[in-house]
Amino acid sequence: MSNVTVCARFRPLSSKENRDDGVCVRAIDSETFVFQDDKDDEFTFNLDRVFYQDSAQASIYDFLALPIVTDAVNAINGTIITYGQTGAGKTYSMEGPGIQDCDEHKKGLLPRVVDGMFDQITSSKDFASYTVKLSMVEIYMEKVRDLLDLSKGNIQIKENKTQGILLSGVTEVPVSDSTEALQLLCTGLANRAVGETQMNMSSSRSHCAYLFTIQQDSVTDKRVKTGKLILVDLAGSEKADKTGAEGKVLDEAKTINKSLSALGNVINALTSGSSSKVNHIPYRDSKLTRILQDALGGNSRMALLCCCSPSNSNASETLSTLRFGMRAKHIKASPRASEVKSAKTQEEPCSVTKDEKCGRVLD
Ligand code: ADP
Ligand code: MG
Repeated sequence: MSNVTVCARFRPLSSKENRDDGVCVRAIDSETFVFQDDKDDEFTFNLDRVFYQDSAQASIYDFLALPIVTDAVNAINGTIITYGQTGAGKTYSMEGPGIQDCDEHKKGLLPRVVDGMFDQITSSKDFASYTVKLSMVEIYMEKVRDLLDLSKGNIQIKENKTQGILLSGVTEVPVSDSTEALQLLCTGLANRAVGETQMNMSSSRSHCAYLFTIQQDSVTDKRVKTGKLILVDLAGSEKADKTGAEGKVLDEAKTINKSLSALGNVINALTSGSSSKVNHIPYRDSKLTRILQDALGGNSRMALLCCCSPSNSNASETLSTLRFGMRAKHIKASPRASEVKSAKTQEEPCSVTKDEKCGRVLD
């Protein structure tokens, strides 16, 4: 049984943040800091790791993602989530300034995960052959959009006994190396931008999930194992009343708050019950929690990066982000390596036409 890895990252002050407002964080060490709110009350936080303003992107990957990538290549599911208010650095941490062609040291988690995954696959090639498939979806206003094929409608979420949560009919593209995977991710992000323009929305108003399926066929004994690795860049967690949103923007904010509250409620339900009592876990309250059900339910290693502004002007949002992280720290996970004895006995994957046979329709 392992805990979820929870880290905080404080980005540098932005040009919009007034230096005279001061900062809300005082470093103690690499795991502990003091947070000071706008009434000068102090709270000490202890997390798995704290990345302060000058932290390198590589150090975040090494601590938070590399162990999960290593496990995913060995068929243990993994999930990496960035959480925080809009502008706190979630996308910068996840993507960096760009997926391709950005400074090596500025590369975000996603391109590093792709490189790390294929490096490990290359070094394990003598023992197994690997097939990596990539899907990319966006959750906007409780609809799941396929970012690799915008012509597909709302993707349905289904559940299968052996494979867990599945996105029915989602585009899954096999990628044979890191260049191909990065190219595909760029296509998905370009599609996301097209959708944003069409719908007149900002990417901070939707959740974006990158899903890798890594199948391993053993060279020696025909065993087949599959690891799922999911990276999620969440929508901004700020409260609608603070931003003064109206109309469509207010509806978006309400939907985001609902899904992030649903995530919080799932975490509360998972962490508040005694071990003897079986709690009802409200995974079905949002698309986000349904997609993350396997991860939250324990069959996945999980890391959460709580992205924060260091400015006093954002202190209340930062405190709420940190409290969310502290709650998530109590989730217990015991991920198991998947194993199917022989390629022949492996269940057929779900597809749109086979849904009723192999999965339950849940939505
Ligand atoms: P979010 O995705 O949480 O809304 P972004 O990742 O888009 O926020 O970050 C907001 C702005 O701050 C962007 O211009 C981004 O480049 C910058 N930024 C965020 N984190 C860092 C960082 N650690 N170092 C430098 N710039 C950063
Ligand atoms: Mg963002």
